[in-house]
Amino acid sequence: MVDQNLENKPKRIPVLAISRKVIQIIFFFLINYVALETIFNADFSLLEDLLKVLPFLHSAKSSWTVGAGLLEYSFYTISEGHFPFFFIAVISLLGLFGGRIFCGWACPTGFIQDLLYSLSGENKRFSLEVDRSLKKVKFFGLIAMIVLITPLGIYRISDVTAYIGYADFLGDLTDNMIAPISLSEFLFVTFPGVIQSIIENVNLQALFSEGKAWSTILFFLYIIILVLNVFWPRAYCKYLCPYGAAISFSARYSLVKLQRKPTRCPGRKECGVCEKVCPMQIRILDEDFSGFTGKGECTLCLECMEKCPHDAIKWRFGA
Ligand code: SF4
Ligand code: SF4
Repeated sequence: MVDQNLENKPKRIPVLAISRKVIQIIFFFLINYVALETIFNADFSLLEDLLKVLPFLHSAKSSWTVGAGLLEYSFYTISEGHFPFFFIAVISLLGLFGGRIFCGWACPTGFIQDLLYSLSGENKRFSLEVDRSLKKVKFFGLIAMIVLITPLGIYRISDVTAYIGYADFLGDLTDNMIAPISLSEFLFVTFPGVIQSIIENVNLQALFSEGKAWSTILFFLYIIILVLNVFWPRAYCKYLCPYGAAISFSARYSLVKLQRKPTRCPGRKECGVCEKVCPMQIRILDEDFSGFTGKGECTLCLECMEKCPHDAIKWRFGA
């Protein structure tokens, strides 16, 4: 039955959605401030010290960015033979006090995924079982990288010859462990580099160079991921992002969470709008209504809160 009160309700301006877009744009350019320098022919190098400590997954190798993400610093620390206590503590505290708010409001890779999704606005979703299984993939990726990089650190402090041999075996990965699992690396380093090479050399050598089969496979894999994002919002965040995997351990217990008032909510059958708009495919109505973080998957985009026709969802801070 159609709720008369809902029909008469005036359409609200999506203040939260607009604010989020504006903040995402600001962060996109702050993090990639070199782009601003080029556009405005100005010097924004003052931003460098600030951005070096910001916890984002962007590549140290990109000519468009500065610094590196917390995960890159963590991997680098392991490869140097040390345990990254400091960076793990920072990631944990960020997750605990802010959940995955950076993913929802500041991450440039998330922003690009949102832009791609806005091309269709069609929130396709996998079945519950497939979604659950795919969400585990990002943890395997993260663990695989740690397993690969740990011997490098051990050899570094114990056996120089073995270190050189293992570094040789890892090849390009030695300097940039996160590259194969980082969409950021693809968007801001690999993709522009390949396009630039194609334009300058008028050939596809950058894409199909000999002995670089893995790079070619990864290139097309990321193109597929980007295309998937047009219909499956935040596909990379949900299923592959290593930073998302790392922070979700503590974000699961985040002090910032959402709550749902059951007295206002008629449930999935009669409404279910929140679940339909959730880009992370969180089963909001199966979560604890007094406070939920989607098991660390919620990016606090607040789409569900803004679109809920009964104003049943609110955010709260506290245990
Ligand atoms: S959108 Fe709001 S009212 Fe509808 S199911 Fe979700 S929480 Fe309940
Ligand atoms: S639960 Fe709500 S705030 Fe969290 S990701 Fe889904 S739509 Fe966004």
